[in-house]
Amino acid sequence: MTRAFGDDDRAEGGKLQRSALVIVSGDDHHHDLFGASSAFTLLAAEAGLAARPAVGFKRFTNPLPGTASADVYLLYSDGGEFPIAQQQALVDLVRGGKGLLVVHSGARLSPTTQSTGGLPMPLHALLGYKQVDERSEIVVGCPLTIEISAKHCVTRGLARFEVRDGTWATAIDDVDHQVLAYARTPAGPVPAMYVREPGDGRVCYIGAGHDRRSWGDPAFRSLTIQALRWAARLTGSGDGG
Ligand SMILES: [Zn+2]
Repeated sequence: MTRAFGDDDRAEGGKLQRSALVIVSGDDHHHDLFGASSAFTLLAAEAGLAARPAVGFKRFTNPLPGTASADVYLLYSDGGEFPIAQQQALVDLVRGGKGLLVVHSGARLSPTTQSTGGLPMPLHALLGYKQVDERSEIVVGCPLTIEISAKHCVTRGLARFEVRDGTWATAIDDVDHQVLAYARTPAGPVPAMYVREPGDGRVCYIGAGHDRRSWGDPAFRSLTIQALRWAARLTGSGDGG
């Protein structure tokens, strides 16, 4: 019998420990996938989660135990292929109660995955993320000011910080987002972070996080850790808990 990741690992001091699966996908042309995998797996562990790295988004239909048992998924990619059926399976898992944190390019999907007849891809509909332009990443490596705009347990202790980073010019389709932060860019303010609670799940998108310059930034690290803890339901909904 195959032992599922988490059968024993979740027990810590007699209490269940929640788990995170940090998934990277794509080709590392513009983004350091190995570095991201390492950095975000360590951040998930710092968040108090039993964290494990994984490669490839084609894992959500009929998921193996290592995927099915995770309480929260973190996605980071560089044009990773994410077939519509796999996206829909992830949506179903999240709506059923999983957490999802998509960082930076994690929602920038390969054009080959787009076969929805003009409708938003399921991952984008779940996040409320709109892929505006293949070349929409802006201000990579420049000082980027992130301004927190809402009180929430994800943004606790943070007000405004600057990172050398890139972010994505995203347009939000849905009206039930809560935008938590904006990035000040030459093109004007861009939503830098937003959350939703679809079904029984929790999702969060963070636009920053291009490379090690943000992964090592104390404020970005706090934001990521708090987002993981919220998505994994280690903290309460909204600005409580
Ligand atoms: Zn980037």
